[in-house]
Amino acid sequence: MIQEDMEQRRMILAAIIDSSEDAIISKSLDGIIVSWNRSAERMFGYPEAEALGKHISMLIPADRQAEEDMIVANLRAGKRIEHFQTIRVNKAGEEIHISLTISPIRNQAGVVVGASKIARDITEQKRAEEALTRHNRHMEAINVISKAIAGEIDEEKILQRVTDDSTKLVGAAFGAFFYNKTDTKGESYLLFTLSGAPMEAFEKFGMPRNTAVFSKTFKGEGLYRSDDITKDPNYGKNKPYHGMPEGHLPVVSYLAVPVIAPSGGVTGGLFFGHPEKGKFLAEHEGLLQTISSIAAVTLNKAKLYGEVQALNAKKDEFISFASHELKTPLTTIKGYLQLAEKMPDLTTEVMPKINKQVNRLSAIIGDLLDISKIQAGALALNYAPASLHLIIRESIETVKAFSPGHFLEFELPIRDVQIFVDGQKIGQVIINLLANAVKFSKSGSTVLLKSIYYGDFIRVSVHDQGIGIADKEMGKIFSRFYRIEEGKQKTEGLGLGLYISKEIIEAHHGYIWAESELGKGAVFTLEIPVEYKNMPA
Ligand code: ADP
Repeated sequence: MIQEDMEQRRMILAAIIDSSEDAIISKSLDGIIVSWNRSAERMFGYPEAEALGKHISMLIPADRQAEEDMIVANLRAGKRIEHFQTIRVNKAGEEIHISLTISPIRNQAGVVVGASKIARDITEQKRAEEALTRHNRHMEAINVISKAIAGEIDEEKILQRVTDDSTKLVGAAFGAFFYNKTDTKGESYLLFTLSGAPMEAFEKFGMPRNTAVFSKTFKGEGLYRSDDITKDPNYGKNKPYHGMPEGHLPVVSYLAVPVIAPSGGVTGGLFFGHPEKGKFLAEHEGLLQTISSIAAVTLNKAKLYGEVQALNAKKDEFISFASHELKTPLTTIKGYLQLAEKMPDLTTEVMPKINKQVNRLSAIIGDLLDISKIQAGALALNYAPASLHLIIRESIETVKAFSPGHFLEFELPIRDVQIFVDGQKIGQVIINLLANAVKFSKSGSTVLLKSIYYGDFIRVSVHDQGIGIADKEMGKIFSRFYRIEEGKQKTEGLGLGLYISKEIIEAHHGYIWAESELGKGAVFTLEIPVEYKNMPA
């Protein structure tokens, strides 16, 4: 009966051991395996028959063999080892992370004769822990980069820091950051920084050509990772090199991410290379994407800061320029007044001169007032019926008065029409175009105004034979405070006339533009839609 009971208990125990999720192994004190359950078979890959009688060291990696001595020493002292985290190898040679609990087995006399080992597979847990550690490391790295560049306004420094840090983070042999920059003159050029390679390594190749491999990034098509770029279907498609030019850094592993500005445009790209295969991992992707976004935002901030600074500088320059422009006529007036005071006989002679300077002052102040109205969005138009002929004739007369040396000619439509516009403001624009034509052409030359009406439009153009305007300046002359500095004789002006003219014409829903060839004169034309009717005969 007792015998039966014992047998039953033994079978229950055996069943528990066999159904356990954990590997349960027992071994003699000299390390020979004496029992091996199903989970041990599953975990380590050896069937029971193969494992029994073998030495336990077959499960221990070469660099951890010393652990067994420590375990045996503990066992001999009758000590249990609990939740000891270590690594073992399975039959296929793969490493398994396990948590081991080892208890001494004693004989009836209480002497330790062996040990039972319970091993739990914690590979998944370890992987999760490692992923978490990596994640934390990445967050830390992102934090470090963000802090380092957050207060930076020098674009090159931002590029360099981001390139250096991310090259290290992804374990690249070299990294580069290509960045399209627009300078204060609106011209774009390429900035780039390198990490892990000297500038000379790239300088001779210039900017990365728009090849099938690079264009993905410059088109903003997302992150691109290749274990071996030389085997990539897009590689080698482009002339003349069909791959990397000779002397290029040896790139096999390739990783690239576009840098997309907050406005949505691609401002550049981060590129990484390594001479060995498969160096860049999926885990680098999220990291790089975050770094690229941080870089984009910081670069944008630096760009905005630069623009604000440039505007500020322009404003300062304008204030000093405007003060000078206001002071000059005042000084002249003062001089004439002193002269007239001392020599009253000269009064009639200096009066027109004083008058001219007063007109000049009043024109400058008028421009400044217009600018502040435009800025405040309060450029009000007083629409009223007006005679096209009259507006033009009056404008010509005004300009003639202060430029007797020029021939001012005009061609008007045979019949006058009544147009519905702000006649005073349209006159102001025409005077401004005529005054510029005179200002930028030699005395003795002809300025011709032509006017026509057709359909629902009137068109007025002013032709001069002056210094003309270079192509590259064309887009800028209508902007605020813009004056061409190159090769120009010193002329008066604040660079506001054309800007104000454009605002006035656009407020009338019209267009104004210039055509010119440098050195051969210019033509400024305005066109506005108008309601017109024939003038009463
Ligand atoms: P300002 O005449 O006060 O300088 P504008 O806004 O009227 O300012 O003109 C801007 C600039 O455009 C001028 O400084 C000059 O360089 C150029 N410009 C304007 N009109 C002419 C012209 N008819 N011929 C050549 N250059 C011109």
